[in-house]
Amino acid sequence: MKWKKEYLVPLLCLIVIVSCIVIDSVSARLGANVGADASEIPADAVTLTGAAPGINGDVVVEIVATADRIYRVRVLEEQETQGIGSEAVSTLPGRIYNAQSLQVDAVSGATVTSDAIKDAVRNALISGGFDPEVFEVEVAAAAPVEKTPATLACDVVVVGAGGAGLTASVLAAQQGMQVILLEKMPFVGGNSLRAEGGMNAAGTKLEAELGLADSTVENFTADTLRLGHDLADPDLVRTLAESSSDAVDWLETIGARFTGVKATGGCEGRKYLHQPEGGQAVGEYLVEKLKTQAENLGIDVRVNTAATEILMDNGQAVGVIAEDAEHIYTIQAGAVVLATGGFGSNFELMASFDPSLRNAVTTNHPGAQGDGILMAEAVGAATVDMEQIQLHPTVIQSDGTLVSESFRSLGAIIVNTEGKRFVNDLAGRDVVSQAELKQPDGYCFIIFDQNLVDHLALSQKFIDRGFALSADSYEELAERMGLQGEAVQNFVNTMNTWNASVASGVDEEWGRNNGMDDDLSTAPFYAIQIAPGIHHTMGGIQINTNAEVIGTDGNVIPGLFAAGEVTGGIHGGNRVGGNAVADFVVFGRIAGQSATDFVAFELANAA
Ligand code: ADP
Repeated sequence: MKWKKEYLVPLLCLIVIVSCIVIDSVSARLGANVGADASEIPADAVTLTGAAPGINGDVVVEIVATADRIYRVRVLEEQETQGIGSEAVSTLPGRIYNAQSLQVDAVSGATVTSDAIKDAVRNALISGGFDPEVFEVEVAAAAPVEKTPATLACDVVVVGAGGAGLTASVLAAQQGMQVILLEKMPFVGGNSLRAEGGMNAAGTKLEAELGLADSTVENFTADTLRLGHDLADPDLVRTLAESSSDAVDWLETIGARFTGVKATGGCEGRKYLHQPEGGQAVGEYLVEKLKTQAENLGIDVRVNTAATEILMDNGQAVGVIAEDAEHIYTIQAGAVVLATGGFGSNFELMASFDPSLRNAVTTNHPGAQGDGILMAEAVGAATVDMEQIQLHPTVIQSDGTLVSESFRSLGAIIVNTEGKRFVNDLAGRDVVSQAELKQPDGYCFIIFDQNLVDHLALSQKFIDRGFALSADSYEELAERMGLQGEAVQNFVNTMNTWNASVASGVDEEWGRNNGMDDDLSTAPFYAIQIAPGIHHTMGGIQINTNAEVIGTDGNVIPGLFAAGEVTGGIHGGNRVGGNAVADFVVFGRIAGQSATDFVAFELANAA
């Protein structure tokens, strides 16, 4: 093609548009540049950068400082978790600048990113030859504020903005309900944001396309009941299974798409675990889509606002009391939906059911305190299965980070410090956790290879954060794992035997028959040290299949609905991997619908 003069203007326009897009996408990743005006910055202040490891790799900050004052702070680069880490990225620079201190509080629930930002600022100071100790000053506690009373009103108040609360709110708002959604933490998402594996569903279009004939509602119901030790309420489980395919279709209408279906622990040959496009972590993916919908629908989402009490009138729930930093709200509502999640961070409450859990590690976010259960009990709600607290078998003990079940769904195995497998590694979570507790040394390793890393995007963060040991041969990996004597050769034998089992499709040693599509033969090889940790509190408020809360007298409490981990009866004695997400979408939708119907009925009757 020959160059013509007339091409110049369109070409320049194209360059401008592309530059704008590039600049925009880069600036979108930069944190705010917080601090003093240019006129206040002295000539001897220097611009410095520093880095420190965050959740998904290094967090890089830029500061402008002198030896005794920090004038500006901004986060230059980060890949932290949307929702959690991003809250710290936008908040911490301001806190550090305002207090002129590195002792400022972390953002609640985002400690890793907060600490990374503080460490990066320390490193930036050191790189300029400044002493970071100058900024290690205690921050005075804020003076207590006299809270002012305020009154709000809406059709539906939803307490807790995790997966269940967001889903219920969106469903109700889609039908014209005016919704207030309360979240006590600085950001929405709760434990749901931490869900990595996928969402279980049966009888979906995707399963039909993939020819998964066994992924039926009947099998899913039976597997969930059996793996839950037949303790769950069969009606709730059937509802979960029957509504799961519709839930997947509904998610598609709000832009959430699943592209793969994998095995989940204990379900033998049957696959239900729907995985989001691009191998993304399911919780982060769905919370982002739901949050966007909530914004588009104009839902009044109030973070840093905790509900403390359910308001009752003549036996009917009519609102809640809630508090933020400055107000005590009386929120009058036509219906109340409790979606406050479980109590996996409330060690006092868990220890009242099982004292051995008092010092256990938890995968739960700090807001999982069981508030909704306690508030519901105070107005006469019944609870079920409160003593059923799940241990997850693959938890990093230093900080409670969960190594998702999707590692094993894609072929990872678990070995002990003797270099041997000791259980069907993809049996139910309870079975694997109990087997681990009997192994020598109190810890084990989950083993995977580069092929798995290439197919599971979320695995990379374990490598970036330094949790995964790696080596180019099985022997070398065994040595990195600290295996001694014959354990090294045992490990090599274990790996070779496992690869042969994958090839033949038969695990003669331990009878595993799922997550065996790929062997573990692609170097480099990886090992993460793990042991069991508290994961899910399966008991909670008793509900029926309409997500109506049941009182201790066996009757429905009018106007009060509940969904998600705050409820009991859906998982029985052991939750199946992928069923927490199924639970929050299915019962979140039901609670949103029931609350809407209740309000519409009351309005029609009042007219
Ligand atoms: P689920 O999967 O059932 O949605 P999550 O743990 O994801 O459970 O979400 C529960 C949410 O409820 C969390 O974000 C948590 O911080 C919030 N929450 C808990 N207690 C309260 C409360 N008293 N007021 C407002 N929000 C609460």
